[in-house]
Amino acid sequence: MSVINFEFRNEVLKHNASLSYCYQCSTCSGGCPVALITNGVYNPRKIIEEAILGLKDKLVETQDPNPWLCSTCQKCVELCPQKVELTEIFTLIKNRCFEAKKCPEAFYSQGQAVLENGVAIPYSNAIIARRKKLGLPEIKTASVDELKVIMKETNFEKNIKKGE
Ligand code: SF4
Ligand code: SF4
Repeated sequence: MSVINFEFRNEVLKHNASLSYCYQCSTCSGGCPVALITNGVYNPRKIIEEAILGLKDKLVETQDPNPWLCSTCQKCVELCPQKVELTEIFTLIKNRCFEAKKCPEAFYSQGQAVLENGVAIPYSNAIIARRKKLGLPEIKTASVDELKVIMKETNFEKNIKKGE
């Protein structure tokens, strides 16, 4: 049985007060492309409902519905009649999942790639060669050393290693 966690609910509200405007009309879920393709298994309205109720165990532990399925396309935000900033709220939830080391595997490997290369999906030699052939400019990424400083200061470097 889910437990109401008032502290977590207040934390979400403090992060984004628009949560309190939701009246559960489901317009967000009706327009969400991920909800459509998953036949409603992914349901942004339900995530918002769980946040209103402070159901941290559902949002972070069991992830039902899974906030990581959101593609951040912002369609729900555009459609919401109450101007609830769903994706901002999902970001806080995902941050709490990250802290609890409850992220999809791909997230950790992408984080590791950012740590090592400055980009989430490193460019292969084949891509670089093709770009050269097409006359496209050389790819410039952010300084890996600077990124490492930011990641260290924000504990990202430590937390990206799952299970440690
Ligand atoms: S569209 Fe807005 S008000 Fe309606 S359920 Fe979704 S978040 Fe709540
Ligand atoms: S931002 Fe996420 S929840 Fe909103 S419509 Fe797009 S995929 Fe769905």
